[in-house]
Parts: sequence; structure tokens; C-alpha cells
Amino acid sequence: MKEQLMKMLEERKEEMITIRRYLHQYPELSFKEANTANYIANFYEGKDVDIARNVGNGYGIVVTIKGENPGKTIALRADFDALAIKEETDVPFKSKNDGVMHACGHDGHTAYLMILADCLIQLKSSLSGTIKIIHQHAEETPPGGAKSILDSGILDDVDHIFGTHLFPTESTGTVGYNSEYSMAGRSGFNLGIQGAGGHGSSPHLANDPIVAGAHFVTAIQTIISRRLNPFDTGVITVGSFDGKGARNVIKDRVELEGDARYMSVETRQIIETEMHRIVKGIEAEFAVECDFTYVNDYPPLYNHPEITEFVKSTLEKVDDLDIKQVIEFPKFSGSEDFAYYLEKIPGTFFYIGCKPKGVEKVYFNHHPKFDIDEDSLLVAAKSVGHVVCSYFEQYNYSQFEKTIEIK
Ligand code: MN
Repeated sequence: MKEQLMKMLEERKEEMITIRRYLHQYPELSFKEANTANYIANFYEGKDVDIARNVGNGYGIVVTIKGENPGKTIALRADFDALAIKEETDVPFKSKNDGVMHACGHDGHTAYLMILADCLIQLKSSLSGTIKIIHQHAEETPPGGAKSILDSGILDDVDHIFGTHLFPTESTGTVGYNSEYSMAGRSGFNLGIQGAGGHGSSPHLANDPIVAGAHFVTAIQTIISRRLNPFDTGVITVGSFDGKGARNVIKDRVELEGDARYMSVETRQIIETEMHRIVKGIEAEFAVECDFTYVNDYPPLYNHPEITEFVKSTLEKVDDLDIKQVIEFPKFSGSEDFAYYLEKIPGTFFYIGCKPKGVEKVYFNHHPKFDIDEDSLLVAAKSVGHVVCSYFEQYNYSQFEKTIEIK
């Protein structure tokens, strides 16, 4: 089956590129991807699969491919939303939706997975097990689509899950893996500090919220420096401190906004607890009133070590000219809602190099000049294809447990 699948993918490389270019021209923002979702779901119409549309809190699509032989159930996921960025590339298939751009490669994720899925549908008679293809809406915008797709129950029978992301830091042919916690979780907070306004010359008759806010800004950095184990990592950033006023006026109220990142659920908990404690302290210390909201957003992304090792060793062993090297990727401080799937279903999220050829400067994901080498689509399709074939060969009858232990 593997040889046949690889040959089919090679023959359909141009089709992947055509689909990617189409999607690239018509990008849609998170939760507004009606046309993209239609385009994808229609591709599967008439094929021998179950298609679930509008899964979760948006336009999510889950296509179920049932092999003719029994076996485990796996899920493969590609996201399909774009970003509110005005494209600045010179490609002939530049975005036609002004101010919206596929600047994170989700067009490429979708294109390779559609073709891979179609090939797997054609190989159903040799397939032992079930594959759920998740075309996911709204990865870029919290609350994201992933959690709602999980919550819908449609993945309840999935044993393991795999996803990939295109990254231009490595050239085409490079596949990256990273075990355990690999991408950061994030939280956001808003703090309103209500003091009492007054004349700058008479602070004793007022209550200055700027001074209280300034203490808050410095105090929360001690969470990172004094509360986290030095071997753990976290970041807290105050990105907005609305203290604009007049030089001789004590403000009545200030508003702050910020963001926290961390690489484990323990650190997430510590930061959240300590933030609340410090806000209480600021209230007591400065006799101000604080309105504090703290929201946990995407969790830290945990790649199951055993499954990551399986992907790594599978791809290292393949004799395939398109998959040139398998390397350990660094951890990323960015966040991904694939992390939600991995909280419930053991699996791994791995990385596909897509550095454009012959360019002087490489622009990272979310840059208006972000671009990919389209040869990477075949690498993605083949890598995931190899993983799927090896998985069903090796794990259908193994004792590989459906457990997940997030440390
Ligand atoms: Mn992305």
C-alpha cells in the first residue's frame, strides 16, 4: 500500500499546488470560512466517505474514511483559516480578498491533506482501520475550532492523532519533530484599576491608580523570577497600559492588558494563581478597586513521546528522495490549538520545512511576505502518508495503549 500511495501522491503533486493556489487567492478569516469550507467539503462529495459539515463552533469538516479491514482509528488534521494581513508578496496567485492572507501556510496544509485523503479513499480496500480527516476552521482566533470539534464527540473513537505545520525556517525535504511540551500555552488578562482622580498637587486627597498599576507591572515579573522553578519557563508581558492623561491630573482609572506564555500546565496554574494573588495585594496595598479578568487560551502543546518517536523513526527509515532529513526542531513560544486535541488524544504535531528556494530573505509565518516552497506540499503528504501506513502496519495489533500522561 505504501509504495502505491507514494506513487499516487507524486502523480498528484501539481493538483496539490493548484488547490493551494486557489485557496491562497481566496483566504477567509477565522469563523468566516464559509466558501473555503464549501470548497473542501464539495471535493469529497460523491466519494465513498462520510462527510460531517459545520462541526463544532464553525465550519469544521470531518471526513471519515473507513478501511475495508478492521483496525484502529486515527485522525489527521489540517487547518484552513487565514489572517487579517494585507499580502505583500509578488506571487501571481496573490490574495484577492483585500486585507486577508494565508500567511501561516494553512492553504498548504489543506491542499496536501485533501489529496492525501483522496488517495487513501482510493486505497480503502487495502486499509485496515479508520481515518478521520479533520479540516479545521479557526485555528488563528481564540477560542479556536479544535476544542469545539473535540467537544462535539466526533473524535471520541480516535486512538491517535497527527498534525503538521509548514515552517520556512528549514528547507524543503526537512521534517522536524519535537517531543513532549513543544509549543507554548497562552493566557490573556485585563486589569482595570479604579482609584480616585484629583489634582496632581494633592495626592493625599486622591488615590493614584497609575502608581498602583506601576507596582502591578513590576510585581507580576516576580512570578517568573521568584515563583517558577528556574528550569521551567514562562513569559508575562503587559502590552497595554492606558495611563494617558494630563501632567498635573491624577487619573481616576487605568486599564492594563497583557499576555502570558508557558510550556507546561503546572506553570500555567502557577502564573494564574499568582496573578490573582498580586491583584488582591495591589487592592489591599493601594486601596484601589481592581476588575481583573484572566483567561486561559490555547494550552501548551504536548507531543506524546512514544508517538513522536514512532514518527521520527518511521520517517528516518523511509527510502524516499523527497524526505531528505528528519531533525529535532526547537520548541516554539507560539501557540497552536492542535494542543487541545493532544490533551485528549495522544499524538504528535510535527513540522515540514518549506523555505522558498532562491530567496535572499525568508519571512516567517504571519509576515505579509510569507511564502512557501510548494515542493513542500508533496513532502507533507508523503510524510503523513508514511506515518499512516506504518501506523496501521505496526500498531493495529500492538499493546500500544490509548493513554496520555501529560507531565
Ligand atoms: Mn498556523
